[in-house]
Amino acid sequence: PKYQSVALIIGVTGIVGNSLAEILPLSDTPGGPWKVYGVARRPRPQWNADHPIEYIQCDISDPDETLTKLSGVVQDVTHLFYVTWANRSAEAENCEINGKMFKNVLDVVVANSPNLQHVSLQTGRKHYLGPFELFGKKAHDPPFSEDLPRLDCANFYYTLEDILFESVKQKEGLTWSVHRPGTIFGFSPYSMMNLIGALCVYATICKHEGVALKFPGSKEAWDGYSDCSDADLIAEQHIWAAVDPYAKNEAFNISNGDVFKWRQFWKVLCEQFEVENGGWGGERVSMVEMMKDKGSVWDEIVKEKGLAVTKFEDVAVWWFVDVILGNEGMLDSMNKSKEHGFLGFRNSKSSLVSWIDKMKGYKIVP
Ligand code: NAD
Repeated sequence: PKYQSVALIIGVTGIVGNSLAEILPLSDTPGGPWKVYGVARRPRPQWNADHPIEYIQCDISDPDETLTKLSGVVQDVTHLFYVTWANRSAEAENCEINGKMFKNVLDVVVANSPNLQHVSLQTGRKHYLGPFELFGKKAHDPPFSEDLPRLDCANFYYTLEDILFESVKQKEGLTWSVHRPGTIFGFSPYSMMNLIGALCVYATICKHEGVALKFPGSKEAWDGYSDCSDADLIAEQHIWAAVDPYAKNEAFNISNGDVFKWRQFWKVLCEQFEVENGGWGGERVSMVEMMKDKGSVWDEIVKEKGLAVTKFEDVAVWWFVDVILGNEGMLDSMNKSKEHGFLGFRNSKSSLVSWIDKMKGYKIVP
């Protein structure tokens, strides 16, 4: 056959979905040559259009639409990569809506893809931290390892895992893997959580207004150790787990393998945008508050600098910046992943600079 493997990426315009869409079609990608289908809710954006994949616009929260749009095209799919979620506030609702979305996709794919071999699910470090609403109240003692027991609270990551475990039982030989990144450094103007994207927009606005770039977060985040998970590295671990027999039916943490301090990376951010470093001002300030009236400033900058047209609320999700920079970094361990044979890593400073470059390259920021 022309293709050895056929991927279905759910959430193909997201922060990891976009990396998978770029990496899977490459000629030297393990398991290849890959044919790739990608699903997202909105029409295909220009920054995703370079990737040689078949784009399917489909709202997976709607079971009928999922069946109609996917059942016909997924017949040759061998690998499912699930890299999406729905953002609600209360965790009980998160469990319900995210569980339904995943189940809608699995029901169609398991029933209609006779060659399906593997389902790769992305969750995250909140597996150990607890949901956003319980941040700081329930967390395990870091560094986190995969064998820690579940916390005794509702968590949509647990719901997704349980749906996965039930679903793979329906098909003899079908394998799974779960991937748990921390804060992701990547590229997607459509992501519901994109720290670097939001920081690039913040730096651009400060530069435009001629003010110093101030660190809005906590002293713990400014001075303490943090880590991150590069979106391309996460994609590489998904692909490794899809093809390597030692990776089957396991959950894996995924982080870059080094640590940094925000006071060091803040300097790098300021240099990249040639804006004065305002440092940590002595107290936390809410980005949500600070940015609530800046939509028109953003539109002005987009026009003045000839940027790709974006919506302010798409390119910069401020509540997420408040959560990540407001809290102390909680590290994980990459031992299990390495012991199973995945030795990938990233230099986080290079990772930061390369994603900023990509934001500029696609003219999302000047
Ligand atoms: P994302 O928000 O970057 O992208 C979501 C994608 O799914 C987009 O392509 C969007 O169009 C699509 N989508 C959303 N709703 C849809 C629907 N109803 N139908 C079809 N497509 C839809 O996603 P992400 O951040 O990669 O999230 C995947 C998982 O990773 C989540 O469980 C998330 O909690 C976890 N995670 C994310 C981060 C982070 O920094 N972004 C960190 C750790 C863990």
